[in-house]
Amino acid sequence: MTRIAHCCCGSLRAEATGEPLIVAACHCTECQRRSGSPFGVSTCFSQGQVRTEGPSSVYVRSSDSGRKVEFHFCPKCGSTVFWYPEFIADLIVVAFGAFAVSSVPQPTLSVWETMRHPWVTFDHALDRFGGQYEPGEGAVTAAE
Ligand SMILES: [Zn+2]
Ligand SMILES: [Zn+2]
Repeated sequence: MTRIAHCCCGSLRAEATGEPLIVAACHCTECQRRSGSPFGVSTCFSQGQVRTEGPSSVYVRSSDSGRKVEFHFCPKCGSTVFWYPEFIADLIVVAFGAFAVSSVPQPTLSVWETMRHPWVTFDHALDRFGGQYEPGEGAVTAAE
């Protein structure tokens, strides 16, 4: 299945082919600020699955562990559409909400649970991590 994620004005796009490797809800404060929501949802693909299109501005920030994440957002409307965490090779993360379709699979991981608002709950089973999910830990296999 091919799905197209895009910013609010439509000029920055990411076309993803196939199913995501991981879908993760993240409760960290950076994701809250980026998304303007109580948590962010990362839709992770290998870079070969995603074709990006349109002009983007870049914001690079360090994660708690000092590793960099490179966010691409629309210079016109400001929506962040995709990003690259340098600590996982060959991964591109697409903002879940940028797809705006119901066919994207639900999160199987919930990370930075220590910052989760108590009223945010999920009624399906998922693997929970107090902090960052590390590839190789837990039940889910990360991008290869
Ligand atoms: Zn835009
Ligand atoms: Zn986060």
